[in-house]
Parts: sequence; structure tokens; C-alpha cells
Amino acid sequence: MLEKYYNMGQIDRLLRFLFGWGLIFLGIVFTGVINDSLMNGLIAMFGVINVMTSVFRICPAYLLARISTLPKGRANKRNRVDSAIIVDGFDDVKDNRILRRKLQISILLPMLALLVIFAVIAYKLDHRSMMMSITRQVDVAMEMAAKQIISTDSGSDTASAVGSAPPELVQMVSSLSENSELFVQQDANGQIVDSAFSKGEGNEALLRAWLRQSPSLLPAHESDARGMLMFGDEELIWTSMRVGSTDTWLSVIVPSPKEHTMTAYLFSPGFLVLIFAVSWLAIWSSTYIVGIFVDKMESNSRRLQHRSMHDSLTGLPNRQKVESIINKRMRALNSERECLVLVMVDIIDFRVINETLGYALGDQLLVQVGNYLKEVEPGKTDVVRMGGDIFCLVGVIAHNRVNASRLANLVHDKLECTHELNGIPIGLQIRTGLSLGPADSVKPEDLVRFADIALAQAKTQRIKDCFYQHDQDSHSIRKLTLLARLRTAIERNELTLVYQPKVDIGTQALAGVEVLVRWHDDEYGQVSPVEFVSWAEKSGLIDKLTHWVLTNAEKQCQEWRDRGYFIPFAVNLSPTNLFDKELIPLITRLVTEGSFGDGMLELEITENAVMEDPERAVQAMRVLSNMGIRFAIDDFGTGLSSFSYLRTLPVSNLKIDRAFIVDTSQSDKDAVLLRSMIELGHGLGCVVTAEGVEDEATMDRLRQYRCDHVQGYHVCRPVPAEELVRWLQTCDWQGSERAA
Ligand code: C2E
Ligand code: CA
Ligand code: CA
Repeated sequence: MLEKYYNMGQIDRLLRFLFGWGLIFLGIVFTGVINDSLMNGLIAMFGVINVMTSVFRICPAYLLARISTLPKGRANKRNRVDSAIIVDGFDDVKDNRILRRKLQISILLPMLALLVIFAVIAYKLDHRSMMMSITRQVDVAMEMAAKQIISTDSGSDTASAVGSAPPELVQMVSSLSENSELFVQQDANGQIVDSAFSKGEGNEALLRAWLRQSPSLLPAHESDARGMLMFGDEELIWTSMRVGSTDTWLSVIVPSPKEHTMTAYLFSPGFLVLIFAVSWLAIWSSTYIVGIFVDKMESNSRRLQHRSMHDSLTGLPNRQKVESIINKRMRALNSERECLVLVMVDIIDFRVINETLGYALGDQLLVQVGNYLKEVEPGKTDVVRMGGDIFCLVGVIAHNRVNASRLANLVHDKLECTHELNGIPIGLQIRTGLSLGPADSVKPEDLVRFADIALAQAKTQRIKDCFYQHDQDSHSIRKLTLLARLRTAIERNELTLVYQPKVDIGTQALAGVEVLVRWHDDEYGQVSPVEFVSWAEKSGLIDKLTHWVLTNAEKQCQEWRDRGYFIPFAVNLSPTNLFDKELIPLITRLVTEGSFGDGMLELEITENAVMEDPERAVQAMRVLSNMGIRFAIDDFGTGLSSFSYLRTLPVSNLKIDRAFIVDTSQSDKDAVLLRSMIELGHGLGCVVTAEGVEDEATMDRLRQYRCDHVQGYHVCRPVPAEELVRWLQTCDWQGSERAA
């Protein structure tokens, strides 16, 4: 838009340049021809102004267009709420608002004032010179008439005096009396000595009108007086003159020539050029002033815009700017050969660097990271600081994923080295998430979001980089929604518990039930515990979840006990639960005051849970086992357990993971592995439970290997409490005398 006006401005400049020189030329030439130096001077000056303004690029169209692009105060006031950066720039916005107001005044007022002043001056000057030229002729004639009056006898008839005068005077006076409306001779007191009317006696009204205006003036004047007289619609000019040193006054009233009436004057070419020149002058002088203001406003807004679009620490473009960068790159893309890649970069454990080295060094590191990123394929990439320790590299690459990976690798190579900060070596590790335009989307906001999602994925999977995939998106929305709902689901008791029996493989008696949690969400349906338990672990909700499970399982245990079913419960613990300060008090209460006494509670923990912080874990396990709580190692075989540790743990049950149970018939090696695991369990003095038993053949084999307990769909699926009671009453596995 601005360019359009700017081009207009260029044409305008050229025209003004040529026009200006033309006027200067005319002004100079006419000075010699027309004897009116004021008009010629104005024309020439007008020419000079045109040339000057064209040279100094003052163009109203361009300037006004520039003003319209400047940020408006109100819009920025809104931004002020959105962005803290803009707050810094608020003074500039206020400045702009004041400037804008000044500007409006500076355009209008001088233009109007100049126009009026020039018009009035010009009219006055011109009218005066016009009057002088008309009356010049009258003056000469009157002079001669006066001489005649003096040379003949004073008081004699003017006409007769004229009669004996030289022929040229006779002609002049007669032409004068022909044109004049009135010719009067007065004495010093204003008394009319003689009067002549060119249009008959009826013009006495004119005489009276004139006398009302002039006689009082006469005695006061030494020599002469003149003025304008409006008589009806007529515009007249009168001139009075004292005859020599006598007391006689001669006055003549002539009609104002038609070309000198006000209307004729206003439409005369001279006056029009003058008006045009004056307006032009007014416009150009005000646009010159405007230009100065606009420059100031523009530099204000440029500063403001830069500040709101750039990060103050690194000087890099910020999140607000990223979309326009992507748009610009996208437009310049040769879509047949090239594509756009967004590499979202996150520094791992930057918080730790900040906390250990201090924020000043952390800031320095961020600046350095920004600088390093700028060195990755310069010219083809833009670096944006998205906030905190997250940067985004927007790059143009040749079409395919390999090149995108290559760019990500360059980023990794550049940053994952040892950086020196104040002599302290710091090793950086980063994760990157990639999205591709236009393959993933053409919209900048989508590309940024997708790269964010890919980055989150890379972080959760602990991989170096990750490309965006469409299913990640819906997955992450679902995850975020569910995670937010999980807390309320726990608080509102929307979770439920199911129970899966474990039975003695020899006696077929019920050895106990494993408590498994279930969650049905109204929108997303049944959510797998594998999913939400892991989210709860990461978000810190897991302690709350485990408390809920333990409390509700205890209630169920109590209810069954009241009905005569003494069933041992096994509750799953997540790794961090062992370090929860409230866990031991809660279990103590459930054991001493509730139904979990008498060895009714077993806790299943994974090997990894123990290995995370073995000493604290063992300490907590000892406290609990002293209360009569038994421990089972869950998913045995899949973790990183050290057998030496297993020996020291108060564990009474080893649950061999499903992965070792299914399909052992297929491979001898698997069979050997399973057998030795069972033997190891027995060697450690544990009861060995096989998980995920799905058929009779597996049962037989496990019996053969002397496994103690089995759990799995072949025995019973996890079922709600009431169903388990029915199962107990109907199935072959009943052996309540053992469980009781
Ligand atoms: P897990 O502790 O290994 O639980 C056993 C899982 O195997 C259960 O899945 C159960 O339904 C399934 N299963 C049982 N028999 C068979 C079978 O014959 N074949 C097959 N294919 N699967 C069988 P579920 O209920 O989905 O639980 C999955 C995991 O979620 C559990 O694995 C456990 O780690 C976790 N979890 C469940 N409830 C809780 C809880 O209350 N607290 C904690 N911390 N974790 C829980
Ligand atoms: Ca378990
Ligand atoms: Ca398990």
C-alpha cells in the first residue's frame, strides 16, 4: 500500500519539478512584459517552492499514507495487556498519540490561516493598485479643470470654463462628464457651488448618498480624498480634490469599471493563479512540517515494533515474530524443489544450569546458544527465541525428510559440545522437534504447534529428535484433557476397582486378588491404567491415586471379611510411592484400624522402583514389612534388578512377567529362562507367581516347572467385586479354606 503511494509520490515529484521550472521561467519573463512585480514575484516563488519540494521528496499522498500505517494508540493499548514487552514501549505509543494530534493541527491550521491571510493581502494590494489606475485618469482631468477654474473667474460655470480650454482638455473633461455619474464643485464648508449629473436630475439620490459619506471628510483633507461608494447594486468610485490653494473642491463620481468589480476580480486569471499558488504553498509547507513529525513517529513506531517483536536478551526475533518469518519464507519457497522445516530446540536441564551457575551465566549461555544457532546454514535459516530455553530454527531445505534430519543434526552438532562460560566448561544436551511445511501444514501457527508437539514427543521418548506425526496431535490433546480430568476423577470417586484372582497351581485354592484400577471418562470412554498411571506418575498425582486405591481396596476387603471371605489383597505401588511421606501413616492406619491386618495386604513393586534409590526404598519396605505387609516384585525379568539386592529385600513373592510366560512352548531357550527364574525365586525363599496365563497348556508347563501361583485370563479376568464373589461361588478354583 505504501509502495503504491510512494510511486505516486515519484510521479508527483517529477511533475512538480518540471512545473516549478516552468513557473520560474514565466515569472522572470513576465517581469519585463507586465509591470506587476508582485504577481511575477509570486509566480516565480511558487516555481521555486515546487522545485524545492520535489527535490526534498515532500509528497502529501506519500506522507498521509505513511501516517495511516503508523500504530494507533488504542490498538497498542490492547497489546499492552497481552505482552509485557509492549509495556516498555508504551511511552512511545503515548508519544505517537500526542504527535498524531499535533500533526492534525499542524496540517489544518497553517493551511487555513495562510490561505486567508494571503487572499486578504492580495486583494487589498491589488484593489488599491486598481483604484489608483482608474483614478489616475480622473485626477489628470480634474487637475486641468481646476487650473481652468483658477485662470478664469472663480465661481463661474464649469462647463463654460471647460468651453474655453484647450481641445485635449475639452475632450477629456467631456468624456469624463459623460462617464461620470456626478460632477460637483463645493466650497470649504461642503456647500455645493455647482453640480452636474450625467444621467439627469434623478441622480440627486446619488448625490445625497455620496454627501452622507464625503462632505465631512473634505475640510479635513489638505489635498484629495477618494473611496468606494455602493449605490444600490452599483459600485462607484469617487474622487475629491482641492483646487490649488482656494477653498473650492471638485469631486467626481464614476462607475467602477466592470472588470474591477469584486466578482470579476475573484474570477480573474491573476487572482486564480494567486489562490492556487497560495494554497499550494500552504499545502507544501504544512506537509513539510508533517514530514518532520512523521519521521519522528515512524522512528518511534519502528522502535516499538522492534521491541515487541524481539527478545531483549538475545536480540533474536521472538514468538510474536515467528509467524511472519514463516510466512515470508513460505512465500519465497520454490515448492517444486524446496520445503520449510521448523526445528524446535529445547535445552535439557537448563533449569539445573540456572540454579547451579546462577541466572547471569544462564543468560549468557542463552545468548551463546542463539549465536551458535545463527551459524547453522546462515541465509537459509532464521533463529527465533520462543521463550525460556526454547529456540526455533526456521529453515529452507531441499525437498525431503533426510535433509530436515540433516539440518536437525547440524543443530545438535553445533550445540551439543562443551561451551565455556567464564572459564567454566558446560556440556549441553538438546532435544529437537520437527515439523515440515507445507507437508504438515501451510499455516504458521500450525507448524509451530506441530513442532512443539514433536519436541514434547522427543522429550518423553528421550530421543534426540522427532518428526511431527498427525496422530501425535490428537493424542496430545486427549492426554492433556484427560490429565486435567484425572484429578477431579479421583476427588469425585469416579475411578473403580477390579479384582483379578491369583490361585495356587497345586491346590487350585484362591491365593489372593490383585487390585487393578479402572477409569471410564464420559468423553473418551475406558482409559487404560497403563496410560493414566504413567501420566499420574509424571504429573505428581500418583500419590493421591495410590491413596485412593489403598483406601477403597481396604473398604472392599472389610466388606468381604464381613461376608466371610478372607481374601488377601495385592495392591500395585508406583516407584515414587515408596518415597511418599504419607504412605506409611496411611497403611499403618489401614492395618491397625482397618481390615488390612493379619497379613491381608501385599504390595507389588517393580524392580526399577527399588533400584531408583535402593537405600531409601529398602528402608521404607522394612518399616512396612515389620507391620506385616508382604512385598511382591512385579513384572520380574523386565527390570534392571541386581540379584545381590534382591537378596536383601524383604520380598516374599516374585511375579514373573507375562512376556516370559506366553509361548515358552515355542522355544527351548525361553523354557530354560522361565525355569531358572522360578528356581531363582524359590532360591530366594519366595513364592513364585506366573502372570498372564492364558491357556491350559501354559498351566501344565508351569505346574511341571513347580511354579506356585498363577494369574491370568485362563483363571479369571480382572472383574468388579460382585462378579468376583459370583466367580468364587461357581468356579473350580475355589479353595476358600486356604484363603480364609
Ligand atoms: P500389572 O501390575 O502387571 O497388572 C497386570 C495386568 O495384566 C493387568 O492389566 C491385567 O488386566 C493384565 N492381565 C492379567 N491377566 C492377563 C492375561 O492372561 N493376558 C493378558 N494379556 N493380560 C493379562 P491392567 O489392568 O491393564 O493394568 C496394567 C498395569 O497398570 C498394571 O500392570 C499396573 O502396572 C498398572 N496398574 C493397574 N492398576 C494400578 C494401580 O492401582 N496402581 C498402580 N500403581 N498401577 C496400576
Ligand atoms: Ca501388578
Ligand atoms: Ca505385572
